[in-house]
Amino acid sequence: MSDQPVADEPRPATATQVVHLGRPPRVPGGPVNPDVTLTSTYHQGGVPIYGRDDNPTWQALEAAVGGLEGGRATSFASGLAAVAAVVELLPVPGRVVVDGGAYNGTRQLLADVASRGRLRVVTVDTTDTAATLEACRALVEAPGRPSGSDGEFGAGGLLWLETPTNPLLGIADIAALVEGVHALGMHVAVDNTFATPLLQRPLEHGADVVVHSMTKFLAGHSDVLLGATVAATADLDAALRRRRTLHGAVPGPFEAWLVLRGIRTLAVRMERSCASAADLAQRLAAHPAVEVVRYPGLASHPGHRLAAAQMAGPGAVLSFDVAGGAEAAEAMVAACRLATPATSLGGVETLLERRGRYPSERRTPPGLVRLSVGIEDADDLWADLSGALSGV
Ligand SMILES: *Cc1c(COP(=O)(O)O)cnc(C)c1O
Repeated sequence: MSDQPVADEPRPATATQVVHLGRPPRVPGGPVNPDVTLTSTYHQGGVPIYGRDDNPTWQALEAAVGGLEGGRATSFASGLAAVAAVVELLPVPGRVVVDGGAYNGTRQLLADVASRGRLRVVTVDTTDTAATLEACRALVEAPGRPSGSDGEFGAGGLLWLETPTNPLLGIADIAALVEGVHALGMHVAVDNTFATPLLQRPLEHGADVVVHSMTKFLAGHSDVLLGATVAATADLDAALRRRRTLHGAVPGPFEAWLVLRGIRTLAVRMERSCASAADLAQRLAAHPAVEVVRYPGLASHPGHRLAAAQMAGPGAVLSFDVAGGAEAAEAMVAACRLATPATSLGGVETLLERRGRYPSERRTPPGLVRLSVGIEDADDLWADLSGALSGV
């Protein structure tokens, strides 16, 4: 795409990039937006050959996401399809170190592949840099290194980071972990869904690949599922593209177009959502029915200083514990009239849920409510939340 930033030109602000990346070349009389290219095949004699290989609407979206993250993007049918493509690059048996607070689906996928003997998975708390590096070293030095093909990631293995973590909002030190893990011959993947490239760009901290559920903030309207990988190198991106073609986890062109349309307003949506999240975090922390608020923007948060250094803002997701535990938290969630009880995050509408309601989240505090702050008026949101809290 014509609007990929040129290396020696000053990089425009991300608020500008989200509006302009991935547009067609300026041609008099031509459209200012990419087409939704609905075709399963292409005329012979050129590339692409077939609809599973590539699509112009995917390319427009990938130019935007790759430009924002500073790498090469490949879009996938969902966030989890992007996660699976990265995991699939590991040799057998692969080695993965992952945070216990990584996305549920990611942990379930890793456990499933491990149960087939194709992976060894070690779960750590990645907010503890020293303990994480120690776990990585132990895994690398353990006997039974994969023989045969090294896979695109080599035999060393992969550290899977997700920061902020879900739903405890822990902050992992990406640069320090990348440095230590690379020295061990391991690679680093970062799921950047919670932060978005507007708040955090892991490739600039040395990560090898970024993964997105574009279903969340990038699309922004809770109406589409889509994912992406963003690789630091052309070789890694080519390997991920090959996985997409072979597995067939391809995006629908209309879904790709919807996500690109969502990205156009990402900066203003994030600005509003983050400001409201900061405001609500303060107010929740002062409420007598709330035991603890976890939000990297609060000075009381253990990752506050690291988040301030690593991120351009603390984000639009927070969690809090309702006094009285599971029952009180469920009652509080059900009493909300504006904030909507539903899973997922990153949409224009505020969503909340008690995370402990899922059997796979047995280790989260029972009264913990995760709140994804949308773009509604913050005072209206507070009236809703405080009203629901006063009933419990
Ligand atoms: C939702 C989510 C995913 C999975 O993405 P889907 O688009 O739902 O497949 C992965 N990681 C994180 C952090 C998520 O929130």
